[in-house]
Amino acid sequence: MKSLYSRFVLTTIGIMLLSFILGLMAANSYYHNAIKHNNDRKNTEIAKEFADYIESEKPDSVQRYLKNAAASGYQIYMINDSGEEKFFGADFRNNNLSNDARQKVLSGKVYHGMRDFPKQLFVTGFFANELTNTVGVPFHYNGGNYALFIRPDIQLLFNEVHSLLGWITGIMAVLTIMFVLISSKYMVNPITQLTVATKEIHGGNFDVELDINREDEIGQLAKSFKEMLTKLGQLDELRSEFVSNVSHDIQTPLLNIQGYTKLLEKGDITEEEKRHYFRVIDEETNRLSSLTQQLLVLTTVDKEEKGFLRPAYFEVSQQIKDIIWKYLWLLDEKGISVNYSIPDLIFHGDPTLLYNVWENLLTNSMKYNKENGEIEILLTDEQEHIRVVFKDSGIGLSPEEQKRIFDRFYRADNSRTKVEGTGLGLSIVKSIVEMHEGRIHVDSKQGEGSAFTVILPKM
Ligand code: ADP
Repeated sequence: MKSLYSRFVLTTIGIMLLSFILGLMAANSYYHNAIKHNNDRKNTEIAKEFADYIESEKPDSVQRYLKNAAASGYQIYMINDSGEEKFFGADFRNNNLSNDARQKVLSGKVYHGMRDFPKQLFVTGFFANELTNTVGVPFHYNGGNYALFIRPDIQLLFNEVHSLLGWITGIMAVLTIMFVLISSKYMVNPITQLTVATKEIHGGNFDVELDINREDEIGQLAKSFKEMLTKLGQLDELRSEFVSNVSHDIQTPLLNIQGYTKLLEKGDITEEEKRHYFRVIDEETNRLSSLTQQLLVLTTVDKEEKGFLRPAYFEVSQQIKDIIWKYLWLLDEKGISVNYSIPDLIFHGDPTLLYNVWENLLTNSMKYNKENGEIEILLTDEQEHIRVVFKDSGIGLSPEEQKRIFDRFYRADNSRTKVEGTGLGLSIVKSIVEMHEGRIHVDSKQGEGSAFTVILPKM
């Protein structure tokens, strides 16, 4: 498997090569379509000037004249009708000129080898140092016919620029590759870190350090990853805590039931003790039943299926009052006083699920209350929605705890040791409220009490 790093480096170098080839092809095509004709015309004019000079000024030595002309930056080939040929200036790489072309010029016509130079994919005709890639003009000298072929000596003209351009291109290529090698490492490093972190998480370790502090998309990904990591770590912690809580919550009543059944079996007990044992067994089975019920509600609200709600018109006011009466004995036992303002109100919602909401909020305000504390319950009809508030004078919650109490399995520090619970109640409450498209929030002050407000839209 190729690593992302090598893939990135290879792709960049590939792009560089491809751009180079495409650039070459584009320049080549530009030369053939736009520059070639012009180039041919200009050089023909220059060749004609050489020829005119020879014809009009009749220099003593044509050869010396052409040698000087070549020194000013041309490659020159001359032939006369007796077949004598001469080259001036730098050699042609290829002396492949057709006899036809020679004869044509000797007979007085102009040869346009530059204009007609064939188009080739990677060879820019401009640089093709061939005798065919010249222009040819005729001239007369001392009664003889001559043909003069010339082309600019590109190497001579471009010698310095040539090597300068070569160096620039070479240095650019080397530097680009070096920077690509370094920058790719920098770009790929966070992904490598994330991959290692994912493997660690897979192995159950949520305590992974990520040294990624970037603002770009990868930085955002790393940030979300870190948040997810914290959440996963918390969930994992809560889950194992929950398992031990639930096991404890199941085991304690079972042990009690077992113990009291054995005592009842013995038989040598008074009627009074017998009644007491039966009551304990009854309470413990109720506890087990409510625990399993809560777990069951959790799995059903977890599905969050739209069709899961079974809404009906029902007297929500009566429902809340029924729950208060159900717990009057416990409230009495704890010395907690309840004040409520619950006007008659019909609501459209799922009665069974909403029963869970009120019961959870009421039992919490009893569990986390102080001795001889108070509970206030308010139901108000507010046109678009209904508002239900459960306010207690209990132990309260810190701002940190308030943020997390709706998380599944979460139990605030002060309740862990003192009161039995699973940390599921409020997360169930929140799911049910949200299934009704409502909201729940808490206002609380540590040591002074909490108020849970549920707002449900009228469906
Ligand atoms: P449980 O009561 O089973 O622990 P809940 O989900 O009902 O679980 O509540 C989560 C936690 O929120 C509780 O453990 C408790 O710490 C805190 N809490 C809930 N209701 C109150 C309240 N009325 N006053 C103070 N703390 C509360």
